[in-house]
Amino acid sequence: MTRERLRITNRLRSRPVFFAPAALLAIFVAAPQLFADEPYARSRDYDLQHSKIALRFNLEQKKVLGEVTHSLSILRDGTAKIVFDSAGLTIEKITVNKAAAKFETTAEKLIIPLATEANAGDKFDITIRYEGKPTKGMYFILPDKDYPDRPSQIWTQGESEDTHYYLPTYDYPNDRLTTETILTVPASWITVSNGKLISVSDAGKGLKTWYWKESVPSSTYLITVVAGEFDEVKDTWRGIPVTYYAPKGRGDRLPVNYGRTPAMMELFSKKFGVDYPWEKYAQVMVDDFVAGGMENSSATTNTSKSLVHPKLAPEYLTGEDDLISHELGHQWFGDLVTCKDWGDVWLNEGFATFLEAVWTEAHFGKDQADYERWNNVREWFESASLWNKPIVRHDFDDSSEFDDNAYGKGGLVLDMLRHQIGEDAFYRAMKHYLEVNRSKNVVTADLAKAIEEATHTNVDQFFSQWLYGAGAPKFDLSYTYDAEKRQVMLTVKQTQKAEGRVGLFRVPVAVEIATASGPKLYNVSVSKDKQTFSLAADSAPLMVLFDKGGHLLKSADFHKEKKEWLYQLKNASEVADRADAVVALGKMRNDEEVVAALGDALSNDKAWGVRATAADTLGQLGAASACKLLLAALDSKDAPWVRSRVVSALGGFKDDPAIVVKLNSVAKHDDSYRARAAALQALGRLKAPSALATLDAAVTADSPDGFLRNSALRSLGSLGDDKAVPLLLQWSVPGKPIDSRTAAINSLARLQKDNEDITKQIADYLTEPHFSVRMAAIYALGSRGDASAVPALEALLKSDDLSIEMTPMIKGQIARLKKTADGKPGASSTSVDPDEESSEHANSDKPTTEQRLEKLERLLQEMSDRLKSMEKRLSPPKPY
Ligand SMILES: [Zn+2]
Repeated sequence: MTRERLRITNRLRSRPVFFAPAALLAIFVAAPQLFADEPYARSRDYDLQHSKIALRFNLEQKKVLGEVTHSLSILRDGTAKIVFDSAGLTIEKITVNKAAAKFETTAEKLIIPLATEANAGDKFDITIRYEGKPTKGMYFILPDKDYPDRPSQIWTQGESEDTHYYLPTYDYPNDRLTTETILTVPASWITVSNGKLISVSDAGKGLKTWYWKESVPSSTYLITVVAGEFDEVKDTWRGIPVTYYAPKGRGDRLPVNYGRTPAMMELFSKKFGVDYPWEKYAQVMVDDFVAGGMENSSATTNTSKSLVHPKLAPEYLTGEDDLISHELGHQWFGDLVTCKDWGDVWLNEGFATFLEAVWTEAHFGKDQADYERWNNVREWFESASLWNKPIVRHDFDDSSEFDDNAYGKGGLVLDMLRHQIGEDAFYRAMKHYLEVNRSKNVVTADLAKAIEEATHTNVDQFFSQWLYGAGAPKFDLSYTYDAEKRQVMLTVKQTQKAEGRVGLFRVPVAVEIATASGPKLYNVSVSKDKQTFSLAADSAPLMVLFDKGGHLLKSADFHKEKKEWLYQLKNASEVADRADAVVALGKMRNDEEVVAALGDALSNDKAWGVRATAADTLGQLGAASACKLLLAALDSKDAPWVRSRVVSALGGFKDDPAIVVKLNSVAKHDDSYRARAAALQALGRLKAPSALATLDAAVTADSPDGFLRNSALRSLGSLGDDKAVPLLLQWSVPGKPIDSRTAAINSLARLQKDNEDITKQIADYLTEPHFSVRMAAIYALGSRGDASAVPALEALLKSDDLSIEMTPMIKGQIARLKKTADGKPGASSTSVDPDEESSEHANSDKPTTEQRLEKLERLLQEMSDRLKSMEKRLSPPKPY
């Protein structure tokens, strides 16, 4: 699965973080349902081998009418009953080997007693006729009075344990089956499901029946059903059908966003030495999707937000490729080889995240991949609540196993492994892992075993510290030069506190020492809390790099003089080392030499990531000379992904009328939509007197997908002028485009904070069917700080159609409001909702954001040691 945030690597450097003090909340809120998944795989009584699933739909009532035949084989002697997972479904009739059978149901189970006890190897065909109005698992997105022209869409989302809300089945990953999916839908619709399309036949009464067959087994959370009004674009890879679907009317957006899919299939097939394993590859984009993407076997479902307008798409360097490569990567890692339990879900998500980087490196080049890794490392360290949790863990009762340890850290750990054992050995090991575990379920030990078998490298210690242990090394670094001995004495301290699952790390490190006669590389092994390495150097070093290129998941405080950082910025060969220099120099205030060097990097560094980071940093320095350099950079027409960062950086300079004039001009006339959107945001942030007029005008004007309108609506919240309330109310109502509504709702939350009518209006949006409107309302209420919203949020918590992400989010916002009501400072003024993150800090790493988050986290932790903080990344708005 892709959390929405994975779509935005590179595009949006915000870190939507929220905190759900679940333990404390349990005192106040009797949660009606557990949202936690089962951490360990179940013991099994039977092996589900094949399911023939026939579905019809009652669109008016949003009901599914199903008949499923499960073919299964008993695994244990003396089995007296068959138990399926089934929630909220009305079971009408059951036959066992064609004979009518009795059954009983509980809230979560369907139990079928067998006439006589069965023995291992006995086979049964069990047919279940049922109907239901699914509260999750299956979603009906249909035209309604507010959106009469919306294309009809029915889609499912099985992961993690939601398939049994629309299909009685075995709903845990540790069983695999083949499927037939037979879907009867209006004749004008199309359907997408797992496997090959066998036939489409007339079913009378204006209906057609689509027959899909999947002959490669996979787990039930990977079953998919999509039906509705879609445009289709056909492509192929090595003769295998590759298809893309968009909600009707948006088919022209498919090639520009999805056209690189076959090239990715080729790359991954070659890299793994195992060809793409399914009979076709479909990607279907649906509206109001509850995740970023979902890797259903052979038929991925993605959010329609990935259908970026063709006029905007060229403004994003890597486009939607992170999402596309992530879900495609899962077709091997996740679908062909599947985690046995959710405690090992990193074997799905860490790999898929790593494969984003593999594609990036192959297609966009090493600098791009390096820059993203540099960002990802920093991002992980900023998520403090991930620190003491191992990647492989089974204690996620009150948090989620789908955290950024499974995703981000998992991906980085695989990248480190590749770097440490070498590219050839790494892919040899991956090939072996895929081959021996093909169509099987795995735990982390299976990966270690496969690596050792394929490469004869023992990775036990590596796995122990990075996967079963928590944290990462934090280094304190310094050196002296002994001119007599011609030696650099490099002192390395590990400063992370060894406690819980965090220990000292043993890591190989590449150290580069550059002197007047050139650079020299040394490989050292760090393992102690303090070590000093003596390294030969023919003269005093100009530059010492620790972990050249930034391959380790680490933080480092390297005590260097200014001249060394300046040299490093100019001369280091790797992106990560130059970017580190930018950050280090950014801490030196009131220094014109530093400003000039950053200006030089902004204009001349060959990697755009370094140029953009230099822009961010100049914005933070706030000196008049820095401002001049940023303004000058606007004349140079750098790529939109840099230009928007330069514009954003200008939003850090208060009280300079010349900047407001420039930002107004960019907002109105720039060639780049992203730059224009960034200017609108910056104007709001600066609270410029002229901003209201510019933002008003931008809301009224047209742009692709309302891109500038949405940006202006967001910015009105930062501007903080209550005169904007009527305009925001107008754009928040049903019928307006969803993205405009979420932007308006977010900004409304920040205005007229004592006006309970606004709070009530936002609370009304909590019960809307639109996932993103709901999300926006939840966060808006939390950040608004008006405790009168608590009952509405608590009521929402009791509704039974919440996706797994939503429950902790709601609890988090309730906690914020209750804290505000108790008079504790910080909660309402320190907003951490994703919308605000992106509106205020898109495309930058401003320390103000980090400081705000840290402050909030400290507050929460101080409140009670019973508080457990957690965080998640979720559905941000379309960024600029
Ligand atoms: Zn995923």
